[in-house]
Amino acid sequence: MEVETVLDLLHLYPRRIHDRTAVTSLADLEIGEETTVFGTVVRTMSRLTKQRKRMVVATVEHGDARLEVTFFNQPWREKQLATGTEVAMFGKVETFAGKVRMTNPIVDVIGAAGEARTGRIVAVYPQSSKAELSTWEIAPAVARALEFAGEIYDPLDAAVRGPLRLVDRTTALHDVHRPETTEEHRQAERRLRFDEFLVAQVGLVARKRALAAAEIGIRHVIDGPLVDEFLDRLPFAVTADQTRAIAEIRADLARPAPMHRLLQGDVGSGKTVVALAAMLVAVEGGYQAALMAPTAVLAEQLYAVARRTYGDLVPGAPGENLLGETTSGVRLLTNRTSAKERAEIAAGLGEGTVHIVIGTHALLHGESPFTNLGLVVIDEHHRFGVEQRDVLKQRAGALVPDVLVMTATPIPRTAALLVYGDLDISVLEAMPTGRQAVGTDVLVRDTSETARAYARVRTEVAAGHQAFVVCPLVEGSEKIEAKAATARAEELRTGELEGLRIGLLHGQMPAADKEAVMEAFRARELDVLVATTVIEVGVDVPNATVMVIEDAQRFGLAQLHQLRGRVGRGGGESWCYLIADTATQDAAARMEAMAETTDGFVLAERDLEIRGSGQVFGERQSGQRVDRHLRLARLPRDEKYVGFARATAEAILDGDPGLADHRPLAEEVEDLLGDDVEYLFKS
Ligand code: ADP
Ligand code: MG
Repeated sequence: MEVETVLDLLHLYPRRIHDRTAVTSLADLEIGEETTVFGTVVRTMSRLTKQRKRMVVATVEHGDARLEVTFFNQPWREKQLATGTEVAMFGKVETFAGKVRMTNPIVDVIGAAGEARTGRIVAVYPQSSKAELSTWEIAPAVARALEFAGEIYDPLDAAVRGPLRLVDRTTALHDVHRPETTEEHRQAERRLRFDEFLVAQVGLVARKRALAAAEIGIRHVIDGPLVDEFLDRLPFAVTADQTRAIAEIRADLARPAPMHRLLQGDVGSGKTVVALAAMLVAVEGGYQAALMAPTAVLAEQLYAVARRTYGDLVPGAPGENLLGETTSGVRLLTNRTSAKERAEIAAGLGEGTVHIVIGTHALLHGESPFTNLGLVVIDEHHRFGVEQRDVLKQRAGALVPDVLVMTATPIPRTAALLVYGDLDISVLEAMPTGRQAVGTDVLVRDTSETARAYARVRTEVAAGHQAFVVCPLVEGSEKIEAKAATARAEELRTGELEGLRIGLLHGQMPAADKEAVMEAFRARELDVLVATTVIEVGVDVPNATVMVIEDAQRFGLAQLHQLRGRVGRGGGESWCYLIADTATQDAAARMEAMAETTDGFVLAERDLEIRGSGQVFGERQSGQRVDRHLRLARLPRDEKYVGFARATAEAILDGDPGLADHRPLAEEVEDLLGDDVEYLFKS
């Protein structure tokens, strides 16, 4: 069960506790009510119903009263509920043929046959059939671990705990496992939840302070005229939010502490303009800037925008030199860039003729070509994992570049605080005018309903617009996904979308082909782009007005929202069709949320509710470890703890900046956040 140490065992919290005295006695059951009952199995039998379904009937006894419990299609219950087994069951009380009974209740086996349980409160542990461990085997092991551990270190003294009404840690760890009352258990959980947030906050606050204090950043000169010139020539007026974000970034750049800012703005909110402006500030002040995107397709698109909108503002006029080489102050660097061009870029950076490089993470790998890097912008930051940390590690020796990370995956505020506690945040809330809410319809897979989606594609194409068809996600295999997409494109060509000009884009295509297809789509030489999730991020083709997502149930909410953000960009009415199998409750909830709102923030909150905080950040997320560390705490339910934990962390660090008097706490933080923070507490 991945329990290797005494501490692991203490952290293996019960899934539920049952209070034997509080549960409804069998004799007092009210028909129609949902309740927990407690008892011992006295008889179990299994038979087939007339419809040939397997039915297991167990009779449970408590005192003098009996209850009949029926399970359909759960043949294994016969073995689980052997005579003598002690169980707690939650379900609805019914009567049937004069007998009181429950059907398919939730069952916790709390004791083996033949062993008498004692004690008022019974803890039910996550049982592991793989490890062949049952709850009554885990409980005594935990009891021994508690005894062994004795008094447990508490970073919070009574003076801090008092106002927060938190019990001490020794009590909390004891009572979470072996409470005398349910109230004790509740208090124990409160404290442990608080601690989960506290440890993360101590690390995040300490890191933020260390960076701010170190004066290892660059003081950019920020008052040149280029940004205004750039903004003036845009074909639209920047929004108030964009203006504010640019001002916040400018102020950060002027400070000696390295900027570490998150620019959060929903899909289509116009983050690119802000990023370009920020880079221009750095360049004008004499530094180099890099913009990193998660995919080559996106890097190319950003590069095209930069060249078009301000290629000539950046010093180093675009053109060709006598040798026929490209010259420009703005260059593109991906893993497709030839060695010759790379050398050219590096030379240009050295000579001061190249100032901005836009690319994929190829930018940061190998030898950095930058001689004077002042600003790093990371687009669609949630798609990166450790790379972001790598950027920060470049601090060694020279001055640390300022870092701006951008994400469209909206993160609820408290979650942002939890995961990115060390970041400042700028938000683009208002959408640029001209953006349209995308009408969203959920169509049931394998029914005639789906024809509506393709009919819409045809009418839109007839009206001069374009469409995306997104093929099903195949988790874990880009190869299979690519193959399926290829087959699907072929089907559409000869089927639903016959006669239209159809292009295909998937992750397994050579980069040059991908680029060619994107270019053709942008140039309107293709009507429909059949694609895998490679188009999920950043792709900006305002003429596209319809998106069809096939097997939409396979995608997460964040992903669906990102995908849908590819349409509705041109000011025309737009549609998104989710062709889905909504058989599971979870899938149905996701589709419903998509149909209901286009607000990314609301969707993120909904996502959190549907999935629990455990998975929201996804495995690519740098906050992963922080999040996995939440065993008892759940967002958004426990939001209120985050603020308190942060204030407590700040107070602890105010009094003891290096945690010299809180060594065990420092170790907990290091355990959680890894090498990233080790240096903070070394002194
Ligand atoms: P995202 O935040 O998703 O990266 P982009 O920066 O790609 O969004 O912007 C989406 C689209 O909106 C682009 O076509 C961009 O040119 C346009 N845009 C950006 N800012 C504005 C604005 N203030 N007014 C109108 N259109 C804008
Ligand atoms: Mg973008």
